[in-house]
Amino acid sequence: MTEKIKMHLPLVEMDGDEMTRVIWTKVKDLLLLPFLELKTEYYDLGLQERERTRDRVTTEAAEAIKKYGVGVKCATITPNDERMTEYSLTEMYKSPNGTIRAILDGTVFRAPITASGITPYIPTWKRPITIARHAYGDIYRNTESLAEAGTKAELLLTAPDGSEQRLPIHTFEKSGGIVQGVHNTDDSIASFARACFSYALDTKQDLWFNAKDTISKIYDRRFRDIFDEIFEAGYKESFAAAEIHYLYTLIDDAIARVIRSEGGFVWACKNYDGDVMSDMVATAFGSLAMMTSVLVSPKGYFEYEAAHGTVQRHFYKYQKGEPTSTNSVATIFAWSGALRKRAQLDALPRLERFAGILETAVQKTIADGILTGDLYEISTLPNKQKVDTETFILEAAQRLKNFQ
Ligand code: NAP
Ligand code: MG
Repeated sequence: MTEKIKMHLPLVEMDGDEMTRVIWTKVKDLLLLPFLELKTEYYDLGLQERERTRDRVTTEAAEAIKKYGVGVKCATITPNDERMTEYSLTEMYKSPNGTIRAILDGTVFRAPITASGITPYIPTWKRPITIARHAYGDIYRNTESLAEAGTKAELLLTAPDGSEQRLPIHTFEKSGGIVQGVHNTDDSIASFARACFSYALDTKQDLWFNAKDTISKIYDRRFRDIFDEIFEAGYKESFAAAEIHYLYTLIDDAIARVIRSEGGFVWACKNYDGDVMSDMVATAFGSLAMMTSVLVSPKGYFEYEAAHGTVQRHFYKYQKGEPTSTNSVATIFAWSGALRKRAQLDALPRLERFAGILETAVQKTIADGILTGDLYEISTLPNKQKVDTETFILEAAQRLKNFQ
């Protein structure tokens, strides 16, 4: 066997919960450790450890990403009332992803993993569509209220000098109704725009952005203008050199174009559009279990993960000793994505090559018809067979050895 691949700086490794925690160990043991001298700084974000450290471990992991630049994260439980009882928690800890994003800032890019035999529902789609969701403001930070009949609703802005501007919203006459106030900030929109242009350039794909500026002539127009300004000032030339394009269009026109397209671009979306469209894109490409996610911070930190959760229902079966057929592909691609980025930053061509081979081995396993239950149901392959969680990883490991 050839010598194991060496690393220079470590990856920040964040372990997690339930079925994805089970998968995490198997992926490391079967797909990484036989080939790599894997260097990681390990943080256990499993709920028990978050409880033991009163969630300090999550903050420490985020700080470590700032130090080393690249992290890879397993799915984790976001506690709710049931989890409080199940894990005897003293506090309802916030979502680790939320905590990490608040510390690193940045934009989440979600891309589907394609493989032959898993046919997108949209026949023209040949290449992945990466969705970038602006994860700040709009209705996610709204103030809203019921209004009874007879209520006059106004928008009141108090300027720094104390002067007031009142804008009428609506006078509810016969019927009561609803009102809401939403906002966004220039800084947040600009940071989102920069992240999208940089990511498109980095991955050599066109960038599409859309809003509804024909209707929302100030609010949505502001998004469009900020994107335009940043493109003109900072990216126009590098886009031309890379032979990629920036396209602004209306959201409804964009959806029509997306459906007709071949894929292979980055689709930047406002917060709500991104929320809705990322589920549409994931489903249309096959399965949520085939979606990767990377958080890119404006300071150049990267955090890779699977887009799905801890697959709780499968874990309860696993605990009872029943067979499971959970898809590990997005978790494996979180590792390959993080290893590739580490390799590029540290100039380690063998490691970069390994990341590509690992992905190819997994895609080959699927193309050979070796499938977990979720893919078995949607695959068009004639020779398909359904395998359990571990067998899929073992089969991928076998193919990985053949590629070495
Ligand atoms: P989920 O874990 O994504 O699973 C929802 C369902 O989708 C599963 O029951 C399963 O369907 C299918 N599925 C998802 N991933 C799969 C995979 N890898 N292989 C096969 N099937 C898969 O979402 P959830 O059940 O709503 O959430 C469970 C826990 O995950 C929650 O505690 C939540 O807080 C957490 N969560 C974490 C993250 C994160 O860390 N990024 C994201 C989302 C949710 P079937 O049962 O029909 O087979
Ligand atoms: Mg959604």
